[in-house]
Amino acid sequence: MQPTEPSDPDTPVAANPVFGDEPITVPRFELSDGGLNPAVAYQIVHDELMLDGNARLNLATFVTTWEEPLARRLMAESFDKNMIDKDEYPRTADLEQRCIRMLGDLWHAPDPSAVLGCSTTGSSEACMLGGLALKRRWQHRRRAAGLSTEKPNIVMGINVQICWDKFANYWDVEPRLVPMDGHRLHLGAAEAAALCDENTIGVVAVLGSTFDGSYEPVAEICAALDALEQRTGLDIPVHVDGASGAMIAPFCDPDLVWDFRLPRVASINTSGHKYGLVYPGVGWALWRDADALPDDLVFKVNYLGGEMPTFALNFSRPGGQVIAQYYQFLRLGRRGYRRVQQTCRDVATSLSAKIAALGPFTLLTDGSELPVFAFTVRPDQPFSAFDVSAALRERGWLVPAYTFPKNREDIAALRIVVRNGFSHDLAGLLLDDLGRALETLGRQTGPQRGPETAGFAHGTEKPPAR
Ligand SMILES: *Cc1c(COP(=O)(O)O)cnc(C)c1O
Repeated sequence: MQPTEPSDPDTPVAANPVFGDEPITVPRFELSDGGLNPAVAYQIVHDELMLDGNARLNLATFVTTWEEPLARRLMAESFDKNMIDKDEYPRTADLEQRCIRMLGDLWHAPDPSAVLGCSTTGSSEACMLGGLALKRRWQHRRRAAGLSTEKPNIVMGINVQICWDKFANYWDVEPRLVPMDGHRLHLGAAEAAALCDENTIGVVAVLGSTFDGSYEPVAEICAALDALEQRTGLDIPVHVDGASGAMIAPFCDPDLVWDFRLPRVASINTSGHKYGLVYPGVGWALWRDADALPDDLVFKVNYLGGEMPTFALNFSRPGGQVIAQYYQFLRLGRRGYRRVQQTCRDVATSLSAKIAALGPFTLLTDGSELPVFAFTVRPDQPFSAFDVSAALRERGWLVPAYTFPKNREDIAALRIVVRNGFSHDLAGLLLDDLGRALETLGRQTGPQRGPETAGFAHGTEKPPAR
């Protein structure tokens, strides 16, 4: 891929007029011979970054954009620690293990001390590992029975985050995608079971669909697979992609059964850097027990003179995110997490109700599952969802608009992700700006922008054609 550069590529990077005393330019795409004074170099980079969007106003992302100062300080103190150096930084390694046990307990593992898990760079890596474990288990079972391992498939809703399209593509597993249908905008239990056969390595259930924030019916999906096993003998494990929801449901919906309480759930991932409340760079993958994670996927690294098992795609990785995760667990506890997540949900449900009351919009979801909601523009309006996204962008708000996949390509939606730090106050300011934008948009003669103008789909983008 080429770097994108709006200006003439022959134009060098200029430090003036900020440093007006001597003409300073450096090449744009090559290392300069001599380098620069650090203050000048800093200012150039800093100034260029001013044109990035404001992260706190980025309502497209699920990823943490505000962290407590003391968590930031711990991250800064550990910039120099590499997560893989278990022997050199045994305390960091130990904090990681404590986080895994805490998550095992939070997700009701029958024996949290038997849970196997690891930190990752995010849910994408965690999902790769979850999928690989499913594939390897299936291969072992098939080989033991003298059956072919040529054609593995994985069953999931078409709404899965793009990381699952990557998993299928990179590891040669056929993706069996259940399309949307009518009001069902995520995976259905019967539809999932219907696509399974002897080559199915597992079913992915998403706790918190990227498209609209709705929870998939994990318990129903497991029950449908229980019935399938009774009928056919096929025993198909479930991986729960709880990138967002695995850090919401335990605190806000304690009675919802979606986790290791369901014997069919083999593994769960979450993004520590989403509702785990840590800045970008950490995810978690957990397996219910050793049976769920084949031994031959696990490598050993040195640790305090002995060995420690690791399962990861990366080798080197920053330690600070894991340290900040442990800080958040200590600092907030169950009640603290509940306060933060419930406040996000309250902001989301109250904002969605007010947006619905404006008139031109229809809610697809209201923020009562993930604190995330999606809404469409009524067909009688002279503007599109993409027009609304562009108008809000003029005021600094980043609210994505995107079309839905098969069989609801007719839906073009806007989505708002409420995160820690997006207060009732900020929601009120957004609503004011939306109201003002509608006055202008309402005077249009017809929609101006279509899906081709959608810059940021954030996890809802289409996979490449295979
Ligand atoms: C965000 C997300 C992912 C990818 O997670 P990263 O932490 O960004 O790598 C996977 N699945 C779901 C459901 C998500 O929301």
